[in-house]
This record gives sequence, structure tokens and C-alpha cells, in this order.
Amino acid sequence: MKKLAVVAFGGNALLRGDQAGTIDEQEKNALDTCERLLTLINRGYNVVLTHGNGPQVGNILLANAAGFQIHNLPEMPLDICVAYSQGFIGYVLEQQLRNVLRTHELDRDIITIITQVLVDKDDPAFQNPTKPIGPYYTKEVADKITIENGSVFKEDPRGRGWRKVVASPKPLVISNQRSIENLARDGQIVIAVGGGGIPTFFVAENKLQGIDAVIDKDLASALLAGNINADKFFILTDVPKVCINYNTPQEKSIDRMSVKQAKNYIEEGHFAEGSMAPKVRAAIHFVKHTGRDAIITSAPVLGIDNGGTRISIV
Ligand code: ADP
Ligand code: MG
Repeated sequence: MKKLAVVAFGGNALLRGDQAGTIDEQEKNALDTCERLLTLINRGYNVVLTHGNGPQVGNILLANAAGFQIHNLPEMPLDICVAYSQGFIGYVLEQQLRNVLRTHELDRDIITIITQVLVDKDDPAFQNPTKPIGPYYTKEVADKITIENGSVFKEDPRGRGWRKVVASPKPLVISNQRSIENLARDGQIVIAVGGGGIPTFFVAENKLQGIDAVIDKDLASALLAGNINADKFFILTDVPKVCINYNTPQEKSIDRMSVKQAKNYIEEGHFAEGSMAPKVRAAIHFVKHTGRDAIITSAPVLGIDNGGTRISIV
């Protein structure tokens, strides 16, 4: 039986902070990213691809707000915007991956799955929303929106205005998990859990509904990778290795760490919240769940022996 890998791409694999976000840029980045996957495919892996959506859903939210202000179009809630972004990014990745496979005369089918992820409406994260999303507003406009619909706003630390904040609850159940696994084990390349998944919850026993929240894509990807018993879990970002004492004169890159060491480093504050810490936590989740290794690295290092930082059980 072929081995199964889950590969989580960071948002920068498709759109970097210094880019405007044109489709040409995103197609070019997607092509580069998809070419990196060849190493794994040539090594005989079945592949599930997951991805971030920060820059894309950011732009969708801005367009949404402008549509409301200029054309009085109804504003779409965040779960719908995440769904847009999954379809859009899935399409772009799928098309470029098809081009790469054709160029290398590889015959694999690809399928994008719009993925809902269940969260708990009593998750403590909802008591303290932290994830800023969408446009910056003046205090007056932010207050007005809060009165209208209860949205929570926080002042931007860099003084750019007031921005809506939403919670980042824990992912609990991945809705299409069985299909994702079956398709991938059957040899199709599956793109799923985009942006961490569309957050949903049960308002009543048989009534599923979207909710204003952002699920961490590294955690959701780790949940999937563990549940479908993947042989390897790769988290691809823009640094080749995880470091301790990051950005200090004592900075040191890590080749290997055990779950215990990784937990210690988290406690000692070596990994920034909101960037590296969730990746290391996601890796720990996968390794504890499966006993297998997780690797945090950058796309060019994917599948290269001893590349990146390996997290293992001991
Ligand atoms: P992604 O889009 O891939 O999720 P993030 O920006 O969220 O990317 O996370 C990757 C970033 O984490 C790196 O660019 C790096 O600046 C930052 N980072 C924070 N702490 C560390 C650390 N200890 N070692 C390496 N990178 C770190
Ligand atoms: Mg990130």
C-alpha cells in the first residue's frame, strides 16, 4: 500500500505579504508550490494538501465591505467568505498541479473538497476573540457595528484603526474526513481543509450552522493527518527550520526534537504565538496521535532527507 502524506501549505505559498494579490501572482506562486510536491509524488506518496487562506480571505472581506458600502450588497458572514476562499484557492492549486503533472507525464487525478470543521460553541476561545479580520474602521463606525450586530472590535496596535476580532476555537470534527481519506488512498490528490476549514457548530441537534471564527489551519491539518493515520505530516512555511532563540544572536536551528523537548521549548517561549507556536503544537498533536514523525520546513526542502525540523515521539 502506498504511504499517505498530509502537506499543509502556509498562506505565503500562494500570496506573499509584499504582493498585491493579482491572479497572475497567485498562479505563478501556486505553480512553484505544486512543483515542490513532485518530490513526494515521485517517492510514491499519496497526498492530501491543506492550505492557509489569510491573504485571500482578507481581500474577500475587503471586497465584501466595499460591495456593501458602494452597491448596498448584503454583506456575507465570515464562514461564507472562507468557503469562497476554499473554492478559489482549490481551483488555482488544482489547475497548476494539473499543469505540473502533465509536464511530467504523471497520471493522477486531483479533487478539491469544500471542508466544514465542527467547533464547540462553548469553546473558551469565544470568551476572548483575538484574530483580527477585515477592514480597519474608525472608532465611531466600529461602535455602530457593535450595536448593530454585536461584533467585537479591538484597536490595531500599529494605530491603523479598529478591526473586528473573532475567536480561534479548537477544531473538533472534519466533516468530509472519510471521503478525504478514501480518495487520497485511492491515489487522487486531495485539496481540503483550506484556511483551517469553514467553522460550523450545531445550534440544535440536527441544525448545523456557520459561525464567525477562524480555525488555525495548522491545528486543523494536524487533526486530519492524525485521524486518517497519515504516514507523515509536513508543515510548509517560509523558514527551512524551526529555531530556538529566534531572531537573537543565540539563534540556533533545530534538526530534531522530541515531543517532550518541543513542549519545553514552547513553555520557554521560543516560538511566537500566531506563527510558529501553532505549528509546533500541531506537530506535537500528530506525533502523539500516530507515533510518527512530523516535519516543519519550507517548500524547497520538502522530501529532502534530513531537511527541515523533525518532531518525533522520543
Ligand atoms: P504560514 O503562512 O506558513 O503559517 P507564519 O507567518 O504563520 O507562516 O509562520 C512562519 C513564521 O514564523 C516565520 O516566517 C518566522 O518569522 C516565524 N517564527 C516565529 N518563531 C519562530 C521560531 N522560533 N523559529 C522559526 N520561525 C519562527
Ligand atoms: Mg500562519
